Amino acid sequence: MATIFTKIINREIPAAIVFENDKVIAFKDINPQAPVHILVVPKKETVNDIKEEDKELIGEVYLAIGKIAADLGIAEEGYRVIANCNEYGGQEVFHIHFHLLGGKKLGPLV
Ligand code: AMP
Repeated sequence: MATIFTKIINREIPAAIVFENDKVIAFKDINPQAPVHILVVPKKETVNDIKEEDKELIGEVYLAIGKIAADLGIAEEGYRVIANCNEYGGQEVFHIHFHLLGGKKLGPLV
């Protein structure tokens, strides 16, 4: 089912896009939890279960993360990447995505 992220990909709703190529889009989280909080989203509408055919796509996501972190000046000091999965993971949007957090020394994971 289409989610809010599909609407952002299709430019049906606005977002502060910081990176885009043919496979991945990244934009600022609307409710940032750190000075830098970017959502990195494969354009392919996929749920959480990564299939064999998605292996390369996840590689594209991590290449994008490295580029975005460098562009935003957080690569050297460091950052965190989180993917929330289902209820216990605290997932709200069911289109796989990765939170890129940085810009300060982050606290404990949970
Ligand atoms: P998750 O809990 O991992 O599913 O994270 C979903 C994230 O999407 C949350 O951090 C929200 O703040 C963020 N979010 C929801 N709607 C938007 C939007 N329109 N633009 C940017 N970020 C959004």
